[in-house]
Amino acid sequence: METITINGTNDECFSSAAKALREGRLVAFPTETVYGLGANALDPQAVRRIFESKGRPLDNPLIVHIANISQLEPLVKEIPDRAEALIRAFWPGPLTLVMKKSELVPDEITAGLDTVAVRMPDNPVALRLIEEAGVPVAAPSANLSGRPSPTTYQHVLEDLNGRIEYIINGGPCKIGVESTVLDITSETPVILRPGGVTMEMLETVIGKVETDAVLKPEDGKKPRSPGMKYRHYSPNAEMFLVEGESEEVVRKINLLTSENSAKGLRTGVLSSLENKDRYTAQVVVNIGSLSCLEEVASKLYNALRKFDEEKVDIIYSESFTEKGMGRAIMNRLRKAASGKISVP
Ligand code: AMP
Ligand code: MG
Repeated sequence: METITINGTNDECFSSAAKALREGRLVAFPTETVYGLGANALDPQAVRRIFESKGRPLDNPLIVHIANISQLEPLVKEIPDRAEALIRAFWPGPLTLVMKKSELVPDEITAGLDTVAVRMPDNPVALRLIEEAGVPVAAPSANLSGRPSPTTYQHVLEDLNGRIEYIINGGPCKIGVESTVLDITSETPVILRPGGVTMEMLETVIGKVETDAVLKPEDGKKPRSPGMKYRHYSPNAEMFLVEGESEEVVRKINLLTSENSAKGLRTGVLSSLENKDRYTAQVVVNIGSLSCLEEVASKLYNALRKFDEEKVDIIYSESFTEKGMGRAIMNRLRKAASGKISVP
């Protein structure tokens, strides 16, 4: 299959992509979080093709994207009061709400659950595409399953060229990590995946929210969000997350680098701006300042892909604070890493 690239500003091509989407074909498109791989959410066969082209496990449900509030009502049993407050505060934006689903939503989307995850993306190209298609759009990240999520058009092409019908190029994604997934079906809402809307932001609108226990890696509980059980977001080389006081982290990584070099292995380091000149590794990727976590989030997946390009054998990553956007960053780094190294 030939994959057609469309410039997000070309009206004529845009309309043919919207039509193709409505008629059951796959269209990758930019959102403010990461690129999504869209299919008509009301067409089970189209939805099944998402799983095939990404190699996504069938038990991992999809988020349904909408462009206006009138598209929400048919998808859910009811819109709870606190959903209204959250929608007013954060839509369009990087917040996905899990609600009781209606009969209209195919089982292929929800992996057989009785809930559906819905969001309205804050990106003009995404909103226009969904609007013109005239249907809700099921869309996971537009990467091969397990790979770092795509935050540029080039990332989508790398993973899905020849596997899908269209990619709309809308430039790099602003936020760079996936949406926050919030389950509002329980008494106290639960964050199933941390993301662009932080816990602190949610609590200012609806009071206390909890974090799914499985997000703390220590206690091997069953995730309420099926997708969170998989290794994810990973570069090809094994990555280790190094946690501890900054001086010690740099010292440890440099020590490990020399040991690797002695064995003929090429080392990569995911570094903060502050430490980038202190490492001796062959490949050092700077993902921004410790004091600007929004910047770190936006560069994270591109950095992970960079290590693949540079063909490193082993990667060490610095750790970040778990406040605000730091929760989403650390969640993705933990999922991408195959282990952690703690230093004093
Ligand atoms: P992705 O689209 O690849 O960014 O992943 C979507 C995320 O939303 C996964 O972690 C899913 O497990 C989660 N998700 C989607 N639908 C539901 C649902 N009905 N209940 C709980 N989690 C969901
Ligand atoms: Mg994904």
